Amino acid sequence: EEARAQAERPLHVIEGPLMEGMNVVGDLFGAGKMFLPQVVKSARVMKQAVAYLQPYLQEEKIRLGLVDKPAAGKIVMATVKGDVHDIGKNIVGVVLQCNNFEVVNLGVMVPAERILETARAEAADMIGLSGLITPSLDEMVHVAHEMQRQGFTIPLLIGGATTSPAHTSVRIEPEYRHGVIYVKDASRAVGVCQTLVTPDTRDAFFTRVRAEHATRRDQHANRKRRPEGLALADARARRPALDWGNYRPPVPRFLGTRALGPVPLKDLVTFIDWMPFFNAWEFSGKFPDILQDPERGAAASALWTDARQMLDTLVRERWLTARAVLGFFPAAANGDDIEVRADRTDERALAMLHHLRQQKVKPAGQPQLCLSDFVAPRESGIADYVGGFAVTAGIGIEEHVARFEAAHDDYSAILLKSLADRLAEALAESLHLRVRREFWGYAPEESLTNEQLVREEYRGIRPAPGYPACPDHTEKGTLWRLLDAEAATGIRLTESYAMYPAAAVSGWYFSHPDARYFAVGTIGADQLEDYARRKGMALPEARRWLGPILGRDSEADAA
Ligand code: SAH
Repeated sequence: EEARAQAERPLHVIEGPLMEGMNVVGDLFGAGKMFLPQVVKSARVMKQAVAYLQPYLQEEKIRLGLVDKPAAGKIVMATVKGDVHDIGKNIVGVVLQCNNFEVVNLGVMVPAERILETARAEAADMIGLSGLITPSLDEMVHVAHEMQRQGFTIPLLIGGATTSPAHTSVRIEPEYRHGVIYVKDASRAVGVCQTLVTPDTRDAFFTRVRAEHATRRDQHANRKRRPEGLALADARARRPALDWGNYRPPVPRFLGTRALGPVPLKDLVTFIDWMPFFNAWEFSGKFPDILQDPERGAAASALWTDARQMLDTLVRERWLTARAVLGFFPAAANGDDIEVRADRTDERALAMLHHLRQQKVKPAGQPQLCLSDFVAPRESGIADYVGGFAVTAGIGIEEHVARFEAAHDDYSAILLKSLADRLAEALAESLHLRVRREFWGYAPEESLTNEQLVREEYRGIRPAPGYPACPDHTEKGTLWRLLDAEAATGIRLTESYAMYPAAAVSGWYFSHPDARYFAVGTIGADQLEDYARRKGMALPEARRWLGPILGRDSEADAA
């Protein structure tokens, strides 16, 4: 108000002090001297100031018959169909807005058609796609293909945790001839977008990017000459030799499922692992050391103060509802699969959990792992069990996010989402602790510090479908059926098997002392076929879901 009263025209406040301020922020961010939370907070000041000036701008516009000053460029951004990735994409959107780009953020789970219709209707200068889980890679290929087919000529930007330079070059860029650019993180986004909307720099940039794509495709093609993995039969012969004869699996305190909830949020706070929170805000390193970091410590500490303040409020005012469901089932390994039954006497399989075995060549003496190795084999006759769980801390988040967004406060909206993610992970950790001490009860005396819990120094694992030991997201379908998870928790699975609300975690429980996390890694065509057959899934469909882990031999006919 003070600036407006002094300015000749309200627009001058924006073009003068506000833009100058944002330019300083942009420069410092570009130079690594300011950090994301500060940029997002600065954007909040900018947006709220512009919102304040809006009525005056409108009044003047009508009075003088002015037209809007064009933005630096317009980008339509979306998380692709089936995916719920939100935080990183929203941060990129805010950072671009700070740099005078107009951002049309379509949110999450957006079908290709809506993205392209919007880009056309808005006369966008570029499209940005985001994704967190592997099935989104295919969806991005599809969007690129559609852009080509529908005659688009604007550049396509690709980002998000699941994306990579290699995938962008090998799968996406060949589909679309008018510029596909992989953008690693928010700090790169502004530079790339500015280059793209500047005619002088665009062509040289495209030439360079195209050459990089070609190089990466060559490198990818040359991978073929690396040693192939083991044949599936050989890999199976090298399964780990667990001594089942001298092992008595612990018996869970109940069989079937149990729903918990609403779980009090205050019980979860001490279980929070803070480092991934800082990672979400693009701080790397260790917690709590990051708070003392000579360069980034001040920004990290300020973020942490804001986070704890909001956490206190959201716990006290119960903004979010947390729910959990878990279950235990008699189980026996059947080859690489795990047969799950409803109870000990019923011989009929209730479900078959399908797992994959490592085929990558490993140093002599190291076994080729598969999660089913950690469950007693059927032929041993030993009664063993597996568990499963699904938890969320994101129920009811939408109304609070909407409230912050309406107040032009993206900082708080993003902060809330990143805290909800933390609470969901904290619930997974605290539930796992109860499983070990109480529900499965194989470690009743366990007593670890939160640091030890974060390092997972306990017996047993909770591998998550979609992660490296069990990379097939579709297995969440089986987990959901066994737990009746949607009815129990409200978490639903999208068509790509992402969980919604996004602040959700799910997985299997294995109790064997030797159970550990590993990466299946690349598999061969033999395992792909065997797996598809075991799952009763058509080969092309299995190939689509497992795409990211397929070796050259099984990719060949898909290309
Ligand atoms: N404390 C962390 C926990 C998440 S990362 C947080 O708050 O974010 C660790 C979890 O990821 C594990 O508990 C497991 O569920 C999953 N995970 C890690 N490595 C895995 C692997 N190789 N295969 C399957 N799941 C894995």
